[in-house]
Amino acid sequence: MVLLKSIPKVDKFISNKEFETMAHSLVASISKRILQELRESILNNEINEIDEKILIEKVKNEYEEITRPSLQKVINATGVIVHTNLGRSLINEKAFLKAKDIATSYNNLEYDLKKGKRGERYSHISKVICETLGCEDVLIVNNNASAVFLILNTFAKNKEVVVSRGELVEIGGSFRVPDVMSSSGAILKEIGTTNKTHLKDYENAISENTSMLMKVHKSNYSIEGFTSEVSFQDIIEVANKNDLINYYDMGSGHLIDLPYGLDQGEPSVLKYMQDKPSLLSFSGDKLLGSVQAGIIVGKKKYIDQLKKNQLLRMLRVDKITLALLEENVTSILLGNLDEIPTLKMLFKTIDELKNNASILENSLNNLCQKEVCKTRICETQTVIGGGTTPNKKIPTVALALKIKNYKPNKIEKLLRAKNIIGRIENDEFLLDFRTIQEDEIKLIENIIKEICDE
Ligand SMILES: *Cc1c(COP(=O)(O)O)cnc(C)c1O
Repeated sequence: MVLLKSIPKVDKFISNKEFETMAHSLVASISKRILQELRESILNNEINEIDEKILIEKVKNEYEEITRPSLQKVINATGVIVHTNLGRSLINEKAFLKAKDIATSYNNLEYDLKKGKRGERYSHISKVICETLGCEDVLIVNNNASAVFLILNTFAKNKEVVVSRGELVEIGGSFRVPDVMSSSGAILKEIGTTNKTHLKDYENAISENTSMLMKVHKSNYSIEGFTSEVSFQDIIEVANKNDLINYYDMGSGHLIDLPYGLDQGEPSVLKYMQDKPSLLSFSGDKLLGSVQAGIIVGKKKYIDQLKKNQLLRMLRVDKITLALLEENVTSILLGNLDEIPTLKMLFKTIDELKNNASILENSLNNLCQKEVCKTRICETQTVIGGGTTPNKKIPTVALALKIKNYKPNKIEKLLRAKNIIGRIENDEFLLDFRTIQEDEIKLIENIIKEICDE
């Protein structure tokens, strides 16, 4: 094994001039690994010569791979507004700059500027949320999943929580209501059947060990046909009569009236608050259009109890989240819906979308004349997504794009390689303008031109 003796010594190898400007310890750990692999390949008779240049190249490539940012910007041309895989809701520039200011300087996160002593983390947001929603108090946690967990753990440990069988949902990321319930210590009391649950099912299920009547939003499915479900309003009434807590895990809570008749059967948080529920929770980054967070609203006496649970310390949110949420909810309170990208996209008219689509179409005119690509503006449908309004479509405008004689899935792949995510519908590749931002159109144009030139 002459070859084994020629394996470069680590110390000498990493002192190579090629690595001069790179982080020394990272080069060392990668090099050790690569030289070890080389040793194994030699022992397995897989190679018969050692080329130091190739080894150096290997180290450099791996170094690049590790240090290159993995989390990257993409263009969402799928038309799905609250796209869970693509980061759900966008944060607008104004809110981001405010949060940047808070995050890059000291701030009054837990300091009362008036009294000059310790203050409360959650106080900053409570005024604006309570004013917007008409609730007594509010608590913000890491996400809505943790809101559900905290509420069940605080009020229903070893006690029964009554839930309709038709609402025992599994949402993405393996969040299953029955499992969350058992991990929180609560005992699930299922009532009704898959398609029908009546008010008297709730009434009959109440026993000495009941702590809560809970409703869960059917976020990603709908039950149709011979069905009946009990409204949260009615559940509140039964709970109050029996001195029990009522709680609605609303999933995606919206504060404004939704367009395209999406409101049907999906009242806003404001409407629910008129019936003074004990507790209601929803996500910060679904239809609210802000940052990842779980927003718990309701009666002060229950929020106070939640604040005493040790778990809250593990679920608490950072100053950046609070800064973004405060800014976004203030925009909604002031009616500046344009400042919430999720809502701005939802409310775009067909004419605005057509206009944007034709900007891109016109810029590709030259290529179309040379017959390297072909475009067609089409009116079609999309969904909001993110478990917001299941099975409900909204109108949209897309640019169907054909490049050379490529198949739609090849075009999809080529654009995805440049971080543009589109969709295929009826054997056509579509760029959906419901979710394309105005300042992205030029970039898309350039990338399509690049692909056509290849
Ligand atoms: C989305 C959703 C959750 C989880 O919310 P996250 O903010 O993603 O943690 C919980 N319950 C329902 C009904 C949901 O739709």
